[in-house]
Order: sequence, then C-alpha cells, then structure tokens
Amino acid sequence: MKSSWDNKEAKKCGNNLLKMRVYTSHLLGKEEDLVMHGGGNTSVKIREQNIFGESEDILYVKGSGWDLATIEAPGFTPVKLSALHQLAQLALLSDMDMVKYQRMAVTDPSAPNPSVEAILHGIIPFTFVDHTHADAVVTITNTPGGRKRIEEIYGDRMLIIPYVMPGFILAKTIYQMTRNIDWTSVDGMILLNHGVFTFDDDPKKSYEKMIGVVTKAERYLKRKGALPVKGAKPSKPNYIRLAEIRNRVSEMTGKPVLAKLDQSRASVAFSKLKNVKSISNRGPITPDHIIRTKRVPVCFTKNYTRDLEKFESAYDQYFEKYSRGEQKLDVAPRWGILPGIGTLSFGPTIKHVRIIEDIARHTKKAISQAEHLGGWRALGQKELFEMEYWSLEQAKLKKAGPSKTLQGKIAVVTGAASGIGKACIASLVNEGAVVAALDIDRKIKSLFTQPGILALQCDVTKQKDVDKCIERIVEAYGGIDYLITNAGIFPKSARIADMDHDVWEKSMAINVTSHQRILQSCVPFLELGFDPAVVIIGSKNVPAPGPGASAYSVAKAGLTQLGRVAALELGSKGIRVNIIHPNAVYDTGIWTDEVLKARADQYGLSIEEYKTNNVLKTEVKSRDVADLAVAMLGPLFSKITGAQLPVDGGNDRVI
Ligand code: ZN
Repeated sequence: MKSSWDNKEAKKCGNNLLKMRVYTSHLLGKEEDLVMHGGGNTSVKIREQNIFGESEDILYVKGSGWDLATIEAPGFTPVKLSALHQLAQLALLSDMDMVKYQRMAVTDPSAPNPSVEAILHGIIPFTFVDHTHADAVVTITNTPGGRKRIEEIYGDRMLIIPYVMPGFILAKTIYQMTRNIDWTSVDGMILLNHGVFTFDDDPKKSYEKMIGVVTKAERYLKRKGALPVKGAKPSKPNYIRLAEIRNRVSEMTGKPVLAKLDQSRASVAFSKLKNVKSISNRGPITPDHIIRTKRVPVCFTKNYTRDLEKFESAYDQYFEKYSRGEQKLDVAPRWGILPGIGTLSFGPTIKHVRIIEDIARHTKKAISQAEHLGGWRALGQKELFEMEYWSLEQAKLKKAGPSKTLQGKIAVVTGAASGIGKACIASLVNEGAVVAALDIDRKIKSLFTQPGILALQCDVTKQKDVDKCIERIVEAYGGIDYLITNAGIFPKSARIADMDHDVWEKSMAINVTSHQRILQSCVPFLELGFDPAVVIIGSKNVPAPGPGASAYSVAKAGLTQLGRVAALELGSKGIRVNIIHPNAVYDTGIWTDEVLKARADQYGLSIEEYKTNNVLKTEVKSRDVADLAVAMLGPLFSKITGAQLPVDGGNDRVI
C-alpha cells in the first residue's frame, strides 16, 4: 500500500487540526483494503477555550453514521477528554450507560453520537489516532498461529491486543494493559481479529505508520502466495434457478430482496476452489461485517432448497445456543456461493447489495490468502453472536429509515427512452423498485446511469434481443416482479383503402406481437416473482377508434385482448394483468410545439384548449400515466386483474 499524502493538499489545512483530521481520514477512507462502509474511526485532540474562558482538552472523534471516505468537520463529535478518562477508570459500564455518559460529555448538542471507540481514542496520549480494519493485517491474525506471525512481522514496535468486544470492555482492557508502558516505544496496536491502531502527534506520521504497518502485512501475504485467478471462466448460470433462489431467500427474509450475481474472475476463481464449502463456512474478516453479511454465506449444491433449509436450521441452532433473550433477526443468508459460476449478494436495495458485494469480495480474497497460511480461522461463534446482536451495531442498520412501497421489487419497462416509458422509470425508482429500462434507441444507455437502473438497448421485435436482456436482468437483480409493456409506434395516418402493407405489418409487429413475445419470455420469471404484476399500455383508440388509424387501433385492440387473456391464464399463478388506455399525452418527443399548433389550428383551438380538450379540461401528462401504471403494479391493486382504466381527462366517447 502506498501513502497518498500530498503536501499541497495538506498545506491547505494550515494549522487547523480538525481540517487536517478530515484530510487524513479521507486518505484512509478511500482505501477499500483499510476500511469499508462505515468501518474504522479516527480522532484528533484539540485544546480549546470554552465560553468561560477556561482551557479544555476536547477529543474530536468520528461520529456514528459517518464514513471515513466522505466525512466532513461536522462528522467529528467533540467530547470532553477528561470525562473519557474518568469513564476508562470505571470498573464496569454497560453499553447503554457508555452511550449515555459519552453523550453527556459532548460539547455540541447537535453533533452525532461519538464512535463506540471514543474512550479508547481518549486514552491514547497522542494528538492523532487512526483506526482501520486493514484486510491484510486481520487476515494474518485470522490464521492458526496468527499472533506469532504478527510478532514475527512487527517485533515489539506494535502492541498486540487479544480479541475483546469493541466498546467499553476493549477500552478498559487497553487502559489496563498500557498503564505502565512507555507509549513512545510503540508505533501502534494490532487488535487480533479486529484491526489496527496507529497514533502520533504529527498527522502525516500517524497516517504513514498505518500505511507502513499494512504494507508489511501485504508483503508477508504476497510471499506466502496468492489466489490464482487465471483461467477462471464462469459457467453459464441457470437463470430460472437464480430466480428460484431469489424467491426463496426473499421468503426467508420476510420481504422481497434483490440477488446480484458477481462473475468477476476473482469471484469465479473462489467459487471453483475445491474446499470452498468448508473455507467459506468459518466466519467474516472482522466482526463488524457480521451485521451486513451474517456469519457465513450459503454454499449452494444442486439442491438449493435443501441448502437454504440447512442454512436456516444452522442459524436457528446458533441463535438458540448463544441467545440471552435477544429478538431473533431474520434467518436469510446475505450472500451465497454458486460453485463454478460465481457469488450472489442479497439485499433489499441496490445500495445494500453493493455493500454486501464489496465486503464479500474482500472476504473471499482474505480467505484465499489465509489458505496459504494454514487455513482461515475467524473469530468464534460466541464472539460473533455478541457482535451480531450488539444493540450499538444494530443501531447502524436502523439509520436507513422506513422502506419504500416497492423496495426489493424488480421491474422491466419497454419503450423506456421517452414519454410514458421514461416517466414509468422515474415513478418506479421513486417508489423504491429497481428497474430494467429497455429501448431500441441507443441513447438509453446514457439516459440512465444511476445505480438501480439497468439500461439495455433492445429491439423487442427480436427474440434474441429479448432473451439476452432477460438474462442480464436476472444476473443484475435475480428475477422479475413487474412488467410494464409500453413499446409502441404511431404509424402514419392512412385509410384502409390506401394502407401500405409494410406500415400495417410494422405496426402489428411492434404494437402487438412484440408485447406477446416479451410477456411470454417474462412469464417463467414472473411466476417466481414477489406479488408479480403486468401493466399493458393500450390506447383510447381501443374503446374509441378514429378513421385513418386502423394500423394502430387494430394492433392496440389486439394487445388489449392479449392482456385480457393473460389475466385469465396467469391469475391462478398470482400474476395480475391490467391495462391502461391513455389519450392525448402531449409531453413526449413527438409532440413538438409546431405539431401541436398545426393540430390545434385544424380544430380552431388554441394549443392550451387543444391540450385540455377533455371532460375535466385538464392536461394529461406522461407522469400521470406512469404514476397510475406503477400504482396498478403495487399493493393498491392487489385484488384487481383484467381491468382497463382510461387516463384521458374524461373522453365523452369512452364514457
Ligand atoms: Zn474497529
């Protein structure tokens, strides 16, 4: 690992110690091999004057809910150092009391709760204290004879602390171990199975000591050999099976989850290890990962149902054995191994899934490396249970807030690059679903780039295109719950007598046949979906056709009939199919001001009058249609199938 210290950047902090603390915290936070997703913490001690003019030593320590990579000055909580010293001297202190008394010592009521390691930071007599969960160091400690190896690597310049629970007990243990030591004789501390502390009065030295410690561990691991990733080609997954797994894991979780397949070379190489089942079943890198990943992943065989049952009963036994009346968490795995194929990460949102995927990636690497050091040996189950059910750890997860209506749901929308389709994407994302946005237009890929939207170029009239897209969707999310089939064209107006055969055929191909095909391809996945539903975008032309639009109206009428038959056929499988008939939605690309004006002139109306030419005298927008479509997918329409709803501001011919 290389130091990222930049003199120019550091100079910008001037003599401001807190600014400097922010700067070096970012340096640590950007290294995934040091800390991930809220792990690790840092602090700085600053002498300040309070409003009474008295001099006071204040510990600015990372507040809970902040991440080292992105922390800013308000993320550091100011705590009176004297109070932390007093707390360290207590014989006993419960977690709840520790939180309470730390809070009482905070000098700014608007600051977040200080880190659970605040007391420990307080007793280390240096201005800057850096703490990480460095993979390389923890990996070495998670092996047989780990402590001895650490002694070999670092000599007596590092204090070695046996594993104890983070929080007061850890602070107390270190307080007692260090009462009579000369702090200048050590560069830092290695906490077995947990992480590293370095410290110094100089911020650069403290940071670079961390880099130095980690580099030594990395070199040691490299000498011992690393996981070969060459030739790690994945086998093709069975997509239905992936959807079945996601369905079953959702049931175990008690709510729909996403399942993302990782087929990176490292992931595939790991999944191909002969002893993958045994080595992946021993525990996480560092205990605070357990709240995200659970203790172990599930390793799949051919019989995934039995694998998940076994996982569940093993979790039950683990809970029974160690619980002291805690409320049991859900029994579902957070990640899984598909031997020869890759790994799967499960979570209710794409953010959760990515966090788990990141941690799993580091875990796989650490386990593989430890195999060269005599085997992966994580912390014992009892210690891990304490961490998993520690209220202060669980509090981290509760910060997420209430979940959205369609959280964990997977939707497919066709014709997504403009108009109603594009508005459906916005509405689905707003309700918490992840989406696959399909469109023939290549610009679809640049249109949606945020996580949780899989943009795919797709000609829905080509079966090959559709099949490929469905595979990509199942790899990215694990299945399909919803389909909004919207792709369509409005062919040039022509009377039947003058109809061009190609125009007719094209309208049929896009406006009706392509919908049948994508629906057919999605059905096996919808059957495995969570409260699955389909919405078909029809047209006002179905109940109220007009002359000159036969190619469009006939196709849309056929599409409507397809929806009605689908409602009959799929109802017994729990799949709802409903139809929307929009009319006069003018906020789409086709309706430029010029076109609108020409149309309005034709009827002797102003543009405004033309747009609101309906019973309610209101303008119908793409967003109105999209919101209705998404509502029809959701719980409000859970008892409705085969329905047709107009969204047209009221049309006298339809009414
Ligand atoms: Zn820690």
